[in-house]
Amino acid sequence: MADHLEGLNESQRAAVAASAPQLVLAGAGSGKTETLARRAIDLIVTRNEQPNRLLCITFTNRAASEMRARMAARLGGQAPGWVGTFHACMARLLTEDAGAVPDLPRGFAILDAARSRATLGQVAGVRDPKLLMGLHEAMSLLRNYGVEPGAKPPKGPAFARFEPSVLADASAILPTYAAELQRLRALDFDDLLILPARAMAADPALAERWSGRWSEILVDEYQDTNSAQHRLLRLLAGGHGRVFAVGDDSQSIYGWRGAEVTHLRRFAQDFPAAGPAIKLETNYRSTRTILLAANAVAAQDPDALKKTLRPADRDGEAGAAILVTESATSEDEGRAVVGWVRAYRKRNADLPLRAFAVLVRAGFVAEPILEALREAGLPVMLVSEREIEPPREVLAAIAWLRLAMSVHPAGRDGEVWDAAADDAFRRTCAMPKRAIGGAAFARLRQHATDIGEPLAASVHSAPLEPAETQEFEAVLAIARRVGKRIGLRGTKPSEALKIVADEGGLADALSAGGATRRAWATMLTRADRAGTVADFAEQAGLGLIDAEPEGPDSVQVMTLHRAKGLEFDHVFMAGLEEGVFPSRRAAEEGSLPEERRLFYVGLTRARMTLRLSWVRRRRQWASKPSRFISDIPDDLMDGAPARHEEVARAPRVRRAPVPVDKPAKTPSQAETARLVAAFYAKRRMPAGAKK
Ligand code: ATP
Ligand code: MG
Repeated sequence: MADHLEGLNESQRAAVAASAPQLVLAGAGSGKTETLARRAIDLIVTRNEQPNRLLCITFTNRAASEMRARMAARLGGQAPGWVGTFHACMARLLTEDAGAVPDLPRGFAILDAARSRATLGQVAGVRDPKLLMGLHEAMSLLRNYGVEPGAKPPKGPAFARFEPSVLADASAILPTYAAELQRLRALDFDDLLILPARAMAADPALAERWSGRWSEILVDEYQDTNSAQHRLLRLLAGGHGRVFAVGDDSQSIYGWRGAEVTHLRRFAQDFPAAGPAIKLETNYRSTRTILLAANAVAAQDPDALKKTLRPADRDGEAGAAILVTESATSEDEGRAVVGWVRAYRKRNADLPLRAFAVLVRAGFVAEPILEALREAGLPVMLVSEREIEPPREVLAAIAWLRLAMSVHPAGRDGEVWDAAADDAFRRTCAMPKRAIGGAAFARLRQHATDIGEPLAASVHSAPLEPAETQEFEAVLAIARRVGKRIGLRGTKPSEALKIVADEGGLADALSAGGATRRAWATMLTRADRAGTVADFAEQAGLGLIDAEPEGPDSVQVMTLHRAKGLEFDHVFMAGLEEGVFPSRRAAEEGSLPEERRLFYVGLTRARMTLRLSWVRRRRQWASKPSRFISDIPDDLMDGAPARHEEVARAPRVRRAPVPVDKPAKTPSQAETARLVAAFYAKRRMPAGAKK
């Protein structure tokens, strides 16, 4: 067996070998992501595919950098060039081929969600943050579904979240917003999906050219693709139809944002050459107890496609029971988390803190927990909802490096600039600050768009004042100088960044302010892991170098949505109360099935132990334990509250609730040590499989 298939089971290998189009439909922890990564490797190693002819779509940038690392480990440092979210990959495609899309300005800016929302607030005259958030989400949803301004929105739970008047307002303001974006020569995140699809639909030759760039498109978390992504995917695959998708309908949790699990269900109709879906039925992640609990929860969904999930070690240990913790207040719940971490660490001092994750439905549940952990002196990391962008100064340094890498000598004394660095050129003109006004930049951009040349190559012929030309030329001169210095010897990426800081006049800005300095230091350490300077420049340009500084080993706290695809040894699910999880809104809007799938996602993040926690009184309100707890068979739990129906029917419960101050039961030291050892022995993956 080829090395890179080592350890895979038969169905996983069948999925690796299948000819695309192919869907893999399987439950949590069955190795879907692993299989997808191995397939990409296999295509390169045994089927001689060019790495940059594969397009691998992940759900977050962080998942993309992890996947790249997994692949690089098995490919001797080389990894497919196109690994990223739909958004990141399309941003790159549009930048590289800006000339192909009508009206797309060269060197366009990309507005993140906050800036796009602020722009909408300006044109709509809406200041109230909550109103603006709703308007922005409604507009984004309408656009992702391709609903034309003024047209009636389709029915469905994603739209049911909004008042009809909000949808109407969003629809009415859309043309003004779009005009403002055009004036700013900026795209927002939705444009990154909508523009390529529109351009391809309008121009079959372009569609053929773009779909011809890749021989196969591999998509992780397929159940959560939205309409715009689905449309794009079909267009990109149009030329060859080779799509390899993995997903789990039981984990579809973004319906509220327009994801459509039907895409997964109708894969065979969309890609008629596809054979039957391949199922993976062995779970390598969790103990049997956790798995049985998760299966019982998934079984509550009448619409779920049939899937079986068995533990990897069928005759092995059941694992520890799922503990249910009841606390009087949310502060007590915070202290229970501290006690939980300490109890395990007392028995096994080597256990790293990052083996512990606290998962919450909403931010307010996390607050008292974060406070308690901090008070107890336990390092904690709140994994933010949005992925963090590096500070402007660090982005500028990356842009300088990319610009410097984008110039190549041509002929005698000539040079060629790469259009893919247009956005980098825009940033370098702005940092450090120089005398280039918005009007001058707009003229340069228009000229470049007219003559179809990269921005850098258009400077000398653009209709600019001599002083303006001089400023632009100064930028290019620095880029050339940096390029020469980097090109001289086998410079390491971190050295290249230091050269950039020095030549680009960024050194002061990069060392000012604690956060910027830390982010810069992080970038320098991570840069060398990316490979060559060119590898780094490419990955950094795609936002694939994780910008979050490597803090000390810490307990991870995050929302359930953010935990998707991840796994942790010990999981604490907090705030399991009616009205919190399921949220009141979910109950009112009829999206309980999706809420339950979110619960399933939470349960299946746990590898060894799982703790479910609810409080009797949160923010002055008396609460009841979540109905989801009662979806788990009693014999898998320790300390289960009375069944939800009983609580709902009669305030006096038949089974006495667990006393609040009952000490948390954790396995004995010997028992824990044994479970841990057995667990890791079973899960030992072949070298190189993981980071
Ligand atoms: P999710 O639905 O949560 O995204 P998944 O199906 O993508 O899960 P992976 O994350 O790919 O599952 O795999 C779960 C765990 O099982 C990982 O730690 C992975 O390394 C491990 N694993 C996958 N396949 C095997 C195998 N054949 N042998 C041993 N371990 C495996
Ligand atoms: Mg996965």
